[in-house]
Amino acid sequence: MVKQRIGVIGLGSMGNGMCQSLLRGGFEVFGTDLGVPQRQAAEAIGVTLVDSIAQLCQQTEIILLSLPTAQHVKQVIVGDDGILQSAQPSTLVIDTSTSEPDVTRGLAEQLASQGHALLDAPVSGGPSGAAAGTMVMVIGGKEADLQRAMPFIEALSAKAVHLGPSGSGHAAKLINNLLCAAHLVTTAEAVALGQKAGLDPAKLLEGLNAGSGRSAVSEVNFPRWILNNGFDSGFTMQLMRKDVRLAEKLCRDLELELPLSEQVAKIWAASEPTIPDQDDFNCIVKTTGLET
Ligand code: NAD
Repeated sequence: MVKQRIGVIGLGSMGNGMCQSLLRGGFEVFGTDLGVPQRQAAEAIGVTLVDSIAQLCQQTEIILLSLPTAQHVKQVIVGDDGILQSAQPSTLVIDTSTSEPDVTRGLAEQLASQGHALLDAPVSGGPSGAAAGTMVMVIGGKEADLQRAMPFIEALSAKAVHLGPSGSGHAAKLINNLLCAAHLVTTAEAVALGQKAGLDPAKLLEGLNAGSGRSAVSEVNFPRWILNNGFDSGFTMQLMRKDVRLAEKLCRDLELELPLSEQVAKIWAASEPTIPDQDDFNCIVKTTGLET
């Protein structure tokens, strides 16, 4: 049987994991990245490398993006030598990057005007979830395009939620990450309070995780990456600071006043001089009174 093909642009922490799940799902995966180590790692797991977006478009009309920011996504779709210049008819772009809803809507319109389609399908679950095919995807775009993407989405995720038209997925992802950013700060403050009160952090978390104060941060991040001083989740401060900034911008654009969220955004922005971009995003807990 001929394998269905998919092209992946961006073979970094998430892109590599997603390629593993797509290959395991029985798809033939073509990929490209600007970075040599990322290309080598992808080739080692069975991705067929190509040197340009034009070459990728020759292989398939289904293209998945896993890129750092909306600016990268824009460049890859409408920039020089981008997808729009080389796409086969009726190409479907699935953007799994955490991007900006208004940029996404503009790109979806540009693609649609040439007979193509864009789904925003950002992801949660980190590199390990990407590699295991157990991510959560929040999706924006047309139902028919989602149905076309479904075989790939099923290989990548344990749960996919269609929120509505183009941009909805990216808005939902920013809201999710704002909450995660807040939970990191509030949970670190709670554990710091426990330490000061003479409690053992691991025991305190065991109690919190059986009670109503728990969250994914207390259940997953603290034991897996923080209390053991591992700080190796595969998601960087740079990317999380971007997401918090974008969530804050969404609030401003919608003229919403959310005092606690604004304070969280201030805490993340203030970490810039002391916590380098490439450090793990869980390092934000070091700005609280928590003893790690
Ligand atoms: P990453 O930096 O590891 O990977 C991005 C890759 O894109 C890099 O390898 C880079 O070389 C490549 N790239 C940039 N411009 C390119 C271009 N023009 N052509 C080809 N390749 C290009 O980042 P990541 O951690 O994999 O994150 C990717 C996206 O997923 C981001 O938007 C991030 O916010 C989101 N995300 C990450 C995680 C995580 O845990 N790492 C979790 C959920 C969502």
